[in-house]
Amino acid sequence: MATYIVLLGPPGVGKGTQAKILSERTGLAHISSGELFRENLKNNTELGQVAQTYMSKGELVPDDVTIAMIRQRLSRPDCDSGAILDGFPRTPAQAEALATMLSEFNGQVDVVPFITAEEDVLVERLGGRWTCRAGGHVFHKTFNPPKEAGKCDIDGSELYQRDDDKAVTVKRRIAVYLEQTSPLIDYYRDHGKLVEIDGTQPIEQVTQDLLEAVKK
Ligand code: AMP
Repeated sequence: MATYIVLLGPPGVGKGTQAKILSERTGLAHISSGELFRENLKNNTELGQVAQTYMSKGELVPDDVTIAMIRQRLSRPDCDSGAILDGFPRTPAQAEALATMLSEFNGQVDVVPFITAEEDVLVERLGGRWTCRAGGHVFHKTFNPPKEAGKCDIDGSELYQRDDDKAVTVKRRIAVYLEQTSPLIDYYRDHGKLVEIDGTQPIEQVTQDLLEAVKK
């Protein structure tokens, strides 16, 4: 049976970084809704253009658009044994849609690691974050600097600062998370899926805690 992991937590807590590591260590596909939107934007698709109007303001892309995109992605063969979902679901309606979708694939959300950090930590992390153009790999000018400034250690592509990592948008993204996504904490806790993980620990320790949560 397939395994589905939902990584929950505020923007900047390290979901993307951890999802990539977890994907390498477990062999499960990594699905990042934000990355999918950014790829669409890069390829100038209609979906990318719709998403951009919301992303640039730090708002959520409408549920119907987001759900359709994830459904399509989860149907691809690399998700046959399951997936790590990073950034989806972000609203109660998305969580309900995910449950329905996975039941169609004879699966369910197995575990929801909830990675936590205080708001001042998130603002600092997002402000210093550099993302790679080719693969979306993430670095931080202080906490996880690349070996060579401006260049991704993994694929050598250019590092850039996401528009929505700029100060004003960061504040809005955190507010949107508190309003619209934080109800999912109770939702998954009530379903017995939530495992809390301290996201202020060193990257490797967070990974260890995640692997432990996933094994159970
Ligand atoms: P992220 O890379 O996860 O920080 O996502 C970047 C932006 O993409 C978010 O601020 C939203 O505008 C949009 N986005 C990503 N995932 C979702 C989602 N599940 N629902 C709605 N919008 C999303």
